[in-house]
Amino acid sequence: MPLSEFDLIARYFAGLTPARDDIRLGIGDDAAVVSVPPGRELVIAADTLVAGVHFPLDTDPSAIGHKALAVNLSDLAAMGAEPSWALLALTLPEADDAWLAAFAAGFGRLAHESGIALIGGDTTQGPLTITVAVHGQVPAGQALPRAGAQPGDAVYVSGGLGAAAAALALRQADVAPDAVQACRSRLDYPEPRVALGRALRGLASAAIDISDGLLADLGHLCRASGVGAEIDVDAVPRHPALAQLAARDDAAWYDWPLAGGDDYELCFTVAQAAQSRVEALAESTGVALTRIGEITPGKGLVCRHADGSAFRPGAGGYQHFVRQSQDG
Ligand code: ADP
Ligand code: MG
Repeated sequence: MPLSEFDLIARYFAGLTPARDDIRLGIGDDAAVVSVPPGRELVIAADTLVAGVHFPLDTDPSAIGHKALAVNLSDLAAMGAEPSWALLALTLPEADDAWLAAFAAGFGRLAHESGIALIGGDTTQGPLTITVAVHGQVPAGQALPRAGAQPGDAVYVSGGLGAAAAALALRQADVAPDAVQACRSRLDYPEPRVALGRALRGLASAAIDISDGLLADLGHLCRASGVGAEIDVDAVPRHPALAQLAARDDAAWYDWPLAGGDDYELCFTVAQAAQSRVEALAESTGVALTRIGEITPGKGLVCRHADGSAFRPGAGGYQHFVRQSQDG
């Protein structure tokens, strides 16, 4: 007998995520009611994943559950917000028990790690599509905007880039299976930098998460701030598996970390006087933080090699930042 919508929610989603004492009404009423302490502001974001567009059709359902929440937590991280409450709008072709159990497990694990509670949503039938909306909190006035970078500020990137793009590019290729697997797990299970984002409050002058590719997202930050940036393309931190998958002079060595996307690392700027605090932050959060360049007064991004020579992007350049479909 097919599950009713009510049974499905009760079985897989009620009680899945942490209890929070700021929830007055959660799943089960017409809408949720939460209380926000005085002096705090809400930070709100939503992101949709469409099967075959935002994740490959062969993706493990637990990875889909993880990623649907992770991409949203990454937006909260980029704002310096503490995750609080989530809504889940799930469109499913059918109510498959094994699929739902795995999806809920992936979603629930990350929700417990980040302290976010699922307080409602919607369940409908149709092509597999997952929308999550998240609500986070910051002390009033302390959210990290994209606008705020000043000429002379240093540009930093967290972690290592390019692994998710490598996993997409190499899905059908017959190369180094271990390295490809390491990249695939970065594509499937991105780690939103929530603790780092929170610690950047009062330190970063601007921040953005890297979802479309470093150059595209740094471009957004620069446009919002009315500045430009000069980047050393050799200083950009690569995911360790890239050393095995792309030679240093390959187009892929540059394309994946600079333009690949799906990294869910943070790119942020820090004023000259505060840069000594970044090293301590890397130590306390356990996340590598790499200086890749500097904000400039002129508009646009200038990319150079470590020796100062001009960087020429591979065939087609990066001007369009086209995102690959992830079907097939
Ligand atoms: P309504 O018809 O009043 O919009 P629904 O029948 O859609 O309510 O949902 C019933 C309750 O279950 C609501 O509290 C809603 O927020 C919650 N809900 C529905 N789908 C989900 C889901 N996928 N995850 C979490 N909560 C859900
Ligand atoms: Mg209702």
